[in-house]
Amino acid sequence: MLRILIDMDDVMADATKQFLDLYERDFGIRYTKEQLHGTKLSAIVPPEHKQKVLMYPHRKGFFKDLPVIENSKEVIEELNKRHEVFIVSAAMEFKHSLYDKFEWLAEHFSFIPWKRRVFCGDKTIAKGDVLIDDHDFNLSLFAGRAIVFTAPHNVHYTEYERLDGWLDAHHFF
Ligand SMILES: [Mg+2]
Repeated sequence: MLRILIDMDDVMADATKQFLDLYERDFGIRYTKEQLHGTKLSAIVPPEHKQKVLMYPHRKGFFKDLPVIENSKEVIEELNKRHEVFIVSAAMEFKHSLYDKFEWLAEHFSFIPWKRRVFCGDKTIAKGDVLIDDHDFNLSLFAGRAIVFTAPHNVHYTEYERLDGWLDAHHFF
């Protein structure tokens, strides 16, 4: 049995889509996920829109409404039966994210017991055998097996094992 730590944003919850949806609603322009390869929305919008985009995750409800990433629920539920799954999410940077993420997990991943939901600031506090995350700043500091979950911003990472969608998970565990 492995202790598997799983990140939320852009691994279980589609935060990227939320950024694109909000931007389209505010400015009438739809960027694609392909346009975000290796970058993030705030870095490619016109400079005068950047500040507004940076404020999106500060909004109450931003993290509450995120779409569930395809197949994540089914695959994580199955992994949870055979392994020790912990959800580990940074939820201190944005004030409302803590409550929103609490609610989101309760709604979509109620099979994860509350003792295995870890909201933190710096993820290096969390120890485990495996970390599934989309960001280098988490993966690179992890002492165990670091697996990058494909998101537009990380398609160029080459230094980690890669989980390219949840249906890929059976190759790993
Ligand atoms: Mg993430």
